[in-house]
Amino acid sequence: MVKAKTWIEPHPSGIYVKPADLWIDPSRPVERAAVTHGHADHARSGHGAVFATPETLAIMALRYGVDVEASHNQAFPYGDGFERGGVRFSFHPAGHVLGSAQILMEYQGERIVVTGDYKRRPDPTCAPFEVVPCDIFVTEATFGLPVFRHPPTADEIAKLIGAVRAEPDRSVLVGAYALGKAQRVIAELRGAGWDAPIYIHGALEKMCELYAVHGVDLGELRLVSETDKAEMAGQIVLAPPSALNDRWSRRLPDPVTAMASGWMRVRQRARQRMVELPLVISDHADWDELTTTISEVNPKESWITHGSEDGLLRWCELHQRKARALHLVGRDLEEEA
Ligand SMILES: [Zn+2]
Ligand SMILES: [Zn+2]
Repeated sequence: MVKAKTWIEPHPSGIYVKPADLWIDPSRPVERAAVTHGHADHARSGHGAVFATPETLAIMALRYGVDVEASHNQAFPYGDGFERGGVRFSFHPAGHVLGSAQILMEYQGERIVVTGDYKRRPDPTCAPFEVVPCDIFVTEATFGLPVFRHPPTADEIAKLIGAVRAEPDRSVLVGAYALGKAQRVIAELRGAGWDAPIYIHGALEKMCELYAVHGVDLGELRLVSETDKAEMAGQIVLAPPSALNDRWSRRLPDPVTAMASGWMRVRQRARQRMVELPLVISDHADWDELTTTISEVNPKESWITHGSEDGLLRWCELHQRKARALHLVGRDLEEEA
């Protein structure tokens, strides 16, 4: 029997760790927050003190003006951590975006891991997910249904490059979330041998620079706003998804609209966004990655949150694994998937 329920409390607005008087990924401002990664549904502004990896703190500084120099905010590299109220906290790679971490808590002989968001397939822009053995595994379930099986990333990148080559008079405009997805698509393109300049929307510039500062080589990037329209024919342009069908895209030569997201697996979603070239590239675990991870971590209990809880819950039941669904609010699954 796990004792966890006596020291850790899932609330709609986040996970509260009682003996430490600290919240994990709270969706409202609190006195003390441990943050798994920089996406807006996990990292909020206005906390008294923030505990996170150095990369996540840097991202929060960029997005919300969190003061990295302030002594109450503390950065911990992977493997490292702190103790508070008898609880030992440590940060371990989640493979989701730069700096993303699972948070391990150890208290009176019991171990709980909160994954935040994660994925298992290789990503050139961040450290790979680590299996951290624990009693309770709090897992996301964005794609917690068997229909969600992401294709190999290399196939989607090849599709993108093929589309650019097929239309030398047009540009291909890829909608990609500003933190993580955009940089990953760029790095995957570089890995596939695309060494031409890649053109970006101004909203991506600062985050791309932050990645470069943290050692992720993105090659030559040029701002669309500083480029002649004709130069972008036969080239790849990246913008946040909101810019896809915006007036902004008129700066580009007859763009082919693409979007990189796990949701592109659902044809209707691609149609809704008027995406001609859906690219199924996700920073979240797909169904097989989720179920494999639960098997490998092999916890006494899984707590499922953040998405299709019921699908994964059912799988756990079928495999005689103890599980429960947590219903946290304020999780925006749409933008970053
Ligand atoms: Zn995320
Ligand atoms: Zn998330």
